[in-house]
Amino acid sequence: MLKETRSTCCYCGVGCGVIITSEDDRITGVRGDPDHPANFGRLCTKGSTLHLTAKLDTRVLQPEMRTSRHSPRQPTDWDTALDHVADRFAETIREHGPNSVAFYISGQLLTEDYYVFNKLAKGLIGTNNVDTNSRLCMSSAVSGYKLTLGADAPPACYEDIDHTACLFIAGSNTAYAHPIIFRRIEDAKARNPDMKIVVVDPRRTDTATFADLHLAIQPGTDVALFNGMLHIMLWEGMLDQAFIREHTNGFDALKETVREYTPKMVADICGIREADLVTAAKWFGSGPSLSMYCMGLNQSIHGSDKNAALINLHLATGQIGKPGAGPFSLTGQPNAMGGREVGGMANLLSGHRDLDNPEHRAEVAALWGVEDVPATPGKTAVEMFDALKSGEIKAIWIACTNPAHSMPDLNQVRAALENAELVVLQDAYGNTDTNIYADVVLPATSWGEKEGTVTNSERRITHITPAVAKPGAARHDWEIVVDFAQRLEQRLGKANTLFNYLVPETIFNEHRESTRGRDLDITGLSYQILDTQGPQQWPLNEKVSTGLQRLYSDGIFPKPDGRAQFHIAHYKPTADKTDARQPLHLLTGRLRDQWHGMSRTGTVAQLFNHVDEPVISLNQQDMERRQIKPGDLVKVSNKRGSLTLRAQPSDEIQPAQSFIPMHWGSQFMSGLGCNALMPSAFDKISRQPELKHTAVKLEKV
Ligand code: SF4
Repeated sequence: MLKETRSTCCYCGVGCGVIITSEDDRITGVRGDPDHPANFGRLCTKGSTLHLTAKLDTRVLQPEMRTSRHSPRQPTDWDTALDHVADRFAETIREHGPNSVAFYISGQLLTEDYYVFNKLAKGLIGTNNVDTNSRLCMSSAVSGYKLTLGADAPPACYEDIDHTACLFIAGSNTAYAHPIIFRRIEDAKARNPDMKIVVVDPRRTDTATFADLHLAIQPGTDVALFNGMLHIMLWEGMLDQAFIREHTNGFDALKETVREYTPKMVADICGIREADLVTAAKWFGSGPSLSMYCMGLNQSIHGSDKNAALINLHLATGQIGKPGAGPFSLTGQPNAMGGREVGGMANLLSGHRDLDNPEHRAEVAALWGVEDVPATPGKTAVEMFDALKSGEIKAIWIACTNPAHSMPDLNQVRAALENAELVVLQDAYGNTDTNIYADVVLPATSWGEKEGTVTNSERRITHITPAVAKPGAARHDWEIVVDFAQRLEQRLGKANTLFNYLVPETIFNEHRESTRGRDLDITGLSYQILDTQGPQQWPLNEKVSTGLQRLYSDGIFPKPDGRAQFHIAHYKPTADKTDARQPLHLLTGRLRDQWHGMSRTGTVAQLFNHVDEPVISLNQQDMERRQIKPGDLVKVSNKRGSLTLRAQPSDEIQPAQSFIPMHWGSQFMSGLGCNALMPSAFDKISRQPELKHTAVKLEKV
């Protein structure tokens, strides 16, 4: 029987709506949903080939387990697998305490999945050791917003692209990573050729090529650039003094800070022309200005400073809360926002509450009906795998993510997985680098098979429903967690009361209640409203009945005194520095047609038409100096590891810089992938590691 089902694309945070076609419980096609406000029917190459990924040959369809590291995993049934895991977790918790276990989950889970994982760790077990691959993605954006505006809430919306006079894109190759947003940018520029587009990126990407002004800064110098722009706007009288006076704190200290960021000094640090810096500042200052930013700012040991220094520009010019203006972080993963909403990270709690706030902990404990929520922050991503390696964490449950590919310093991460007493992997796919380390594999459902909600980059929630039934013995992520939690409750001698969910809607309703009175209050929302009225932006409640397109239009910010806070940030260099032994900057990023570790896109032949193998892109000068010809094999290395791959010249790359795409891991190439070379150093506030940059040497093989 032919069927059509509304859903969303499961790749990036644009959150495009799709219509899935299925026949006799088999997905046969996909097209863009013309009624979805994220994409109005458009899809990029990845989204439009989603149906081709709906095949079962790379899926895990049966639980598997091994009782000894030296024997292969064997297929088993759910009761045996979950009883075994519940026994091992209970034993470990009894012997070593709740913080000896950990959960490492994913921005690709649905909000309901995320909610039960968080409640399992913090409410039932009593550990905050629950972190996610969103730590590698958006946590610096979160801390940037919280430091300045007071809450983790992108204030702008996609429609602002149509209203802006200056689109300032920093650290984002939007054309590749968020293609449907880029289509909107192209349309806006075609309608309004006077609109200025500035792109800040060391590489001359497709996005930078489209810009009116490309600031090809040296890697990691963003804070100097933003402070330099503020210096110029201050000097040119382009600041909104009334906005600063009435709605912000801390401007005088910031003024002192940016005084020394003269155009000459900033141009020297960033490696750009002074005149271009001045142009960028004048365009931004004229407004309305919309900034869009992504991993180039976030994946840095100074990611929080970079985010906050950019938001300073919006506050100083009053470019926020009005059409075409505001700081707008582009979410990497499809539901990183939903995960943050339920507090599914080591330092967060449900409903955008903070773990270090005793009142917030008490509110969540009351909501869940537990005595308390532990106060000690959990281990964040890098710390979690360090603790696994040292033996402090003994058992880890990984869901819907592939840390043996995506974490920095992969040799250490793999050593941690080898050292663990128990690795549980809940995943839909069996072709990941992490799969080989798992003692127990729990098969999960995937795109087109699940029900729940996702929140995209502009705070818009969509309810998705399954197009086809669960394949094989796979179960929904939330179902696996609930079944395990009930078994663990018994073993820990606790009442069987916390996880009485039969359908995801009950979980959504509990999450909804947790947002009451919070900045993201969605108490006016339900599955039924989402189904009948379509995807909605938060907040949406009895005071805000249609969802807010833009936040802070009234100039009131979610800080105790209602005023935004300027953040003082100084330029500091990257974690790894080039020197005579490692003279090349290595940058990493995405390709247009691949997604993450390729567990899904790597199964579609046509997605290799764009780029068919991993290469290192180099400036022609650097190739000639080393007598490397196009296609030559080269060894790229630093103290953490090495990779051998082909070299290709690229005029996108500046001299002394290089670029490797992040997608290929050991399942697809010899070597662990470019993240093996990346430092595990992380931002002190956001704890996000510097996955974008390292220093390497290059040898012809
Ligand atoms: Fe999917 Fe993102 Fe492409 Fe939209 S832009 S179709 S969400 S990958």
